[in-house]
Amino acid sequence: MKKRRRFVVNGCVQGVGFRPAVFRHAESCAIAGFVSNTPLGVIIEAEGEEEALAEFSQRITGSPPSQAIISSCITEELLATGETGFSIRSSERSGDLLAGMPADIATCSQCMAELFDSSDRRFKYPFLNCTDCGPRFTIIRELPYDRERTSMHSFGMCPACQREYADPRDRRFDAQPNACAVCGPGLTLLNSSGDKIQTDDPVVETKRLLEQGVIVAIKGLGGYHLCCSAHNSSALNTLRQRKNRPHKAFAVMFSSLEQIRDYCRVSSIEEKELVSPARPIVVLALLAFSKLPVLVSPDTHDVGAFLPYTPLHHLLLEKSLPLVMTSCNRSEEPIVATEEALVPFLGTIADYALIHNRPIVRRCDDSVVAYSGEKRVVLRRSRGFVPYPIVLLKEGPPILACGADQKNTFCMTRGDKAYLSQYIGDMVEYTSHLFYGESVNDLMKLLGIDPAIVACDMHPDYHSTRYAHALGKRSVVPVQHHHAHIASCMAENRIQGPVIGIAFDGTGFGTDGSIWGGEFLVVDLKGFRRVGRLKQYPMPGGEEAVMHPVRMALSVLKTEGLEVEKLSGRMSEKEMGLLFSLMEKGINSPLTSSAGRLFDAVSAFLGFCDTASYEGQAAVRLQANARGQTGEPFAYDLYSTGDLLELSLGPAIREIVAGETAASVCAVRFHETMAQAATAMCVQLREQEKIGHVVLSGGVFQNALLLERTISALLAKGFVVYFHSLVS
Ligand SMILES: [Zn+2]
Ligand SMILES: [Zn+2]
Repeated sequence: MKKRRRFVVNGCVQGVGFRPAVFRHAESCAIAGFVSNTPLGVIIEAEGEEEALAEFSQRITGSPPSQAIISSCITEELLATGETGFSIRSSERSGDLLAGMPADIATCSQCMAELFDSSDRRFKYPFLNCTDCGPRFTIIRELPYDRERTSMHSFGMCPACQREYADPRDRRFDAQPNACAVCGPGLTLLNSSGDKIQTDDPVVETKRLLEQGVIVAIKGLGGYHLCCSAHNSSALNTLRQRKNRPHKAFAVMFSSLEQIRDYCRVSSIEEKELVSPARPIVVLALLAFSKLPVLVSPDTHDVGAFLPYTPLHHLLLEKSLPLVMTSCNRSEEPIVATEEALVPFLGTIADYALIHNRPIVRRCDDSVVAYSGEKRVVLRRSRGFVPYPIVLLKEGPPILACGADQKNTFCMTRGDKAYLSQYIGDMVEYTSHLFYGESVNDLMKLLGIDPAIVACDMHPDYHSTRYAHALGKRSVVPVQHHHAHIASCMAENRIQGPVIGIAFDGTGFGTDGSIWGGEFLVVDLKGFRRVGRLKQYPMPGGEEAVMHPVRMALSVLKTEGLEVEKLSGRMSEKEMGLLFSLMEKGINSPLTSSAGRLFDAVSAFLGFCDTASYEGQAAVRLQANARGQTGEPFAYDLYSTGDLLELSLGPAIREIVAGETAASVCAVRFHETMAQAATAMCVQLREQEKIGHVVLSGGVFQNALLLERTISALLAKGFVVYFHSLVS
């Protein structure tokens, strides 16, 4: 006797080829009924013999398409209707639109095979894709996700593509960006004046130019890359000069995992991340005798490596040496994504441009991930991960959280999900402000909410703070920067607290008006209490000190009563005198408890970085110099001051300044000291507060060595330790 059963499937099941997969399973199991995308999830009604239904049910959950993630599948028995045949019903267009919007997906293996199959009609077609792979987030103008609402709208499908698109048995059924060389987007190569270069094959010509050592701006998925050969020192040098980026590491795209292994050490977990559909940049350790020029990543022994994630990348990298692929932008401005915005770069930074005529609707930078052993550190969460939400412990009212001004991303919650934006960048430039405003409006529209509660940083002068107030909402809630750090880590770990939060960070506005950044907070769902901090030092000249680590070295030496003459020759006497008097008089020398600035001071004192060309450079170099070294922690002090516990690394500084330890050994011992000192603080706080759970957050914990040492020191003392692995 036939039975009918309803399945309501939720998770990431829309826009990833789930319905055609269900259709194929239904056909092969002789099941009648239908499948439909609805606001409640994917609904399937299936009718057939019990045995067939069981097999069908097993296949839906057991062999979903590669990109689908099933979080729940609820079944319900219905009365059989005698229906014959199985159909895919068109989407219901209401409710949770964002559920239908997947992240961009790297080219799948079947498309790859076609790309390099000379008998295939899409042989070497740089925009091929299918139901399982291709652009999504970056081409969707509006939801629901249908071709007419994507930037593929202007490309009418040829009869062959249309047939695939309409055939539920075809692997391109309902693939919205489906295209071929006859009907789809195409490439154009431009010279430095923006004139079209006549060539039969723009990819081959681009590869030839890259081999000659030029810089080409290449339009990708979420924006333009500036691209040059990773083996050509003179091209690298030119790119660094033109981009005014002397030291910060460039990302390198390799043709294959095998090629990466020729250059880097790759653990199995790193390999998994590299080949994942999100294809982030993964920071890998270079082999001892690296074949890459030092200019790729002058400050470290690592390289940000990634694999091709579009057909165009696969073609560019085919039989090619690795290519540097760095975001096309000026310093921390948003990535360039239109031909109009590219104009100022052409002829100044890029010698050529390889463009295409499929517009990028949403800019999206490459994501960056690093591993410390098995621990995943997300340095930038963007392409491939956005717009997938982080699932929260409980539901709440919709909230817009505006984020901070440096390396901004913002967040919007709906129900029990937190949707983080793509990477916006530093909010110093007008272009970032525009991108920010557009992206906030965009996400509100996609989520169909208009949050009445807006959270912003407590810093009164942040652009994001002013933006929050300008929205004119009922409730604007200023949040202390480091409280937000710890809360975000609790949220992704789905814990309620109370916890001891260690926020080791650059700088953030504190509730007492001073600059925080080395804080120990007791945090629960209701709020936070500051219970400890690192010893404060003045930042002579204010924020400028961030880019002049040697100023922090001067400040620490002076405060600790050590000879500042140790720094003579490292800055002019005039500058030193001026900074000295600023500190003496307390002018423009705000006190900070920042861990980041303390790392700066030590790194500068050891001679690794007097002036930084990017934020955090001194700490990056300190960590790089600690590589391969071991050592015991230096001494430190832990004492009460008022109602706070304070941790002073003064004794460590004294040992370092004594000069009896080699700089690289000092580097590793300083990391170890920070880890041990923070743990000692937590031991004291555990007695005082009766809390044994510790949460680690803040930019300084992007330092994998510090993170690893701190976690292991805390575990050794019996703490339960939480840290980030999904967001940063
Ligand atoms: Zn594919
Ligand atoms: Zn076509």
